[in-house]
Amino acid sequence: MTTLLKAQPVVDQKIADLTKRCQSLIQKGKRPLMKVVLVGNNPASLTYIRHKKKMCETIGAEFELDQLDSSISKTDFLAHVEKLNQDSKVTGIIIQLPVSNELKSLRISQLVTPAKDIDGFHGHNTQWLYEGSIQTNHLLPCTPKGIVELLDYYQIPLKGKHAVVIGRSLIVGKPLSMLLSNRNATVTLAHSKTENLVELTKMADIIISAVGKAELITAKHINPAKKTVVIDVGMNTLHDKLVGDVKFDEVSPLVAAISPVPGGVGPMTVISLIENLILASEKQS
Ligand code: NAD
Repeated sequence: MTTLLKAQPVVDQKIADLTKRCQSLIQKGKRPLMKVVLVGNNPASLTYIRHKKKMCETIGAEFELDQLDSSISKTDFLAHVEKLNQDSKVTGIIIQLPVSNELKSLRISQLVTPAKDIDGFHGHNTQWLYEGSIQTNHLLPCTPKGIVELLDYYQIPLKGKHAVVIGRSLIVGKPLSMLLSNRNATVTLAHSKTENLVELTKMADIIISAVGKAELITAKHINPAKKTVVIDVGMNTLHDKLVGDVKFDEVSPLVAAISPVPGGVGPMTVISLIENLILASEKQS
């Protein structure tokens, strides 16, 4: 029997805790406020933003969207972010990616002040990963944090296990590889130039795919004797449907556990972001 690693039970548990912490902050006069900065009107970004807003409302936090014109200059954009950094009412800031071409040369991940960097992208926050931290009171990148919490909830051991992470982006693959290593997994970080992906995934206890290619991982990547756990981070559109990187129908009968798309890593990312908002607000209060 394959276990479906659904996010909903974890999310429900976390909502109860985060609502309480949010109420306690409000009583102290420090209402958490998430500010999202969007440049332009990318439809996918607007969908992600709606999920964030809904979750803020669920726990009683405030949410505000600053939608900036896609023609905004670097100078005006930097001034806008700096104003938010200085505004004591704003407790968490997200610069929604992607930004416009004009702004791409900026080091976006370093613009939000570390104390309000609820995406966990600033070097000051990712430094904890390099230092080997597994503490929960740091603003860690949301998708890696959510993935590890999903594995923990379903009691999937990490210590001594071989995890193959596919994709080395700064928002998922790289920080995830460090987080798993800090939790004593043995980590292989594969990427577009990896030559023997099938051999690697067949040796893995845990496969995590964060690439963005539908049907990249198929039956040939799985050793059915290994009772592999598969985490699918990918979000792709195939025949007008949201799918992950894993060919689900083919892979799921061959593995011990697999996260669905939708309903797996996506909601874990959003709840981790809300957790970071509460944590940042608590530290500022
Ligand atoms: P990215 O484009 O920044 O990185 C993709 C990585 O995949 C690169 O490191 C590249 O080397 C690697 N890669 C490309 N082709 C490959 C191949 N054939 N074999 C092995 N590796 C290959 O992407 P990203 O921002 O990390 O996002 C990856 C996917 O995860 C996307 O589908 C994105 O939408 C999704 N995502 C989902 C969530 C969520 O919450 N569910 C969060 C972040 C990203």
